[in-house]
Amino acid sequence: MKIYDYCATEIAKMIKEKKLTSSEVVEELSERIDRVDDKIGAYVSLNKDSALEFAKELDEKEPNSKLYGVPVALKDNIVSYKEKTTAASKILKDYVGTYDATVVKRMKKAGVIPFGKANMDEFAMGSSTENSSVKNVSNPFDLERIPGGSSGGSAAMVAAKEAYIALGSDTGGSVRQPASLCGVVGLKPTYGRVSRYGLMAFGSSLDQIGVLARNTEDIAGLLEIIAGYDELDPTTSDIPVPEYTKLLDKELKDLVIGLPKEYYTKTLDKDVLDSINTAIEQLKKEGVKFKEISLPHTKYAISTYYIISSAEAASNLARYDGVRYCDRKSNESVEDMYVKTRTQGFGKEVKRRIMIGNYVLCSGFYDAYYKKASQIRRLIKEDFEKAFKEVDLILTPTSPVTATKKGEKISDPLTMYLSDIYTVCVSMAGLPSISVPTGMKNGLPVGMQLIGDYFKEDLILNVSNVYEKIRGQIEYPEMEEK
Ligand code: GLN
Repeated sequence: MKIYDYCATEIAKMIKEKKLTSSEVVEELSERIDRVDDKIGAYVSLNKDSALEFAKELDEKEPNSKLYGVPVALKDNIVSYKEKTTAASKILKDYVGTYDATVVKRMKKAGVIPFGKANMDEFAMGSSTENSSVKNVSNPFDLERIPGGSSGGSAAMVAAKEAYIALGSDTGGSVRQPASLCGVVGLKPTYGRVSRYGLMAFGSSLDQIGVLARNTEDIAGLLEIIAGYDELDPTTSDIPVPEYTKLLDKELKDLVIGLPKEYYTKTLDKDVLDSINTAIEQLKKEGVKFKEISLPHTKYAISTYYIISSAEAASNLARYDGVRYCDRKSNESVEDMYVKTRTQGFGKEVKRRIMIGNYVLCSGFYDAYYKKASQIRRLIKEDFEKAFKEVDLILTPTSPVTATKKGEKISDPLTMYLSDIYTVCVSMAGLPSISVPTGMKNGLPVGMQLIGDYFKEDLILNVSNVYEKIRGQIEYPEMEEK
């Protein structure tokens, strides 16, 4: 086995036992990236020198955490000190972080090395990573296909073994959907579990930083490090952070899992359904009981989500006006500066969201769109609250289809928006959920989504971990001659 074949927890263990140094890990991984990333396009920047310097410092000290010495990649919308952070947008192409996001600060304290920035859809808007202004990302299982999005770079680099763990961000599915399409595990925590300080805002009431890795244990390990109250983000919760890694192996007997009938419709791809059904049968053998439930407001999810998220995006992106941060395009007049900077700096999809957002917020339409959407959001949340009186967890597909060909949906935004049909409700309710691979169909990975009640990350991770053991290994593509 090569160093990149191991998982993060194993690497940290070898470092602890002095069988390996952290500098060796960074060196090996960066060589792997050099050999493989031309095909994948997962990284937009790489801070090899600073990562190596940090690794050397760590090699001099004793480990203080379960992931000590392990490099972890950051999605390119997570700010890190003195490193480029561009949200894969032209408007921020030269922006260098002036501080560390809280997650980055916590990682460094635990001896986890921020290494590289992951490609993404510009400002996290998209479901295929085709909206990156930098380059396209390929799905490691089939280079002609999309990796999903918007955290497509994070998912693809983990599947291609160019990273052990990558952070992503999830506003309506951007961690879970690419995880599903690339055959890796992706967790979106409860809203308020992980600090958003230093995450470039898209939809502030929806955004959460999430974790992607090749197994559940690695995710649990990093979540322990980054989660918890942060005085710099008043929406974080002070509920204590459990030691997730110690709760992964509990028996699943007597657990009741709900299957929402609105998610299992005729439009669901047959291969996806087959794979999910196999997983359900495997879980039944562990003593899990299944029950049909209803989430009646699901049909309004996509329209509600795109109204709310675009409204918030329009407000959040107003700051990129040419005065600060970004690449100013004119000094003629204030108006000319705004117009030229934003016209040249933002891509098509971002402009579309800004227009939708301003439209639904403008005085004549506010009641009809934004207010109505906020009311429906409440009903969607109540659907889940009722469901969790009957069941412990909810199981659904993560994406209605496996990875599609590049270019297939990009010219049709409405079809693209439908990719998020199974993930957006969870985001609007602020609930935690994970996508776990259930296996392969026609050479492409399928994923299931496990949704938990608020702050039940421990239970989600527990079920995901036990399931992983019954399912067996996912074979990741080699990517190079061994
Ligand atoms: N695909 C969804 C969108 O384009 C979700 C994006 C996200 O979660 N960041 O808005």
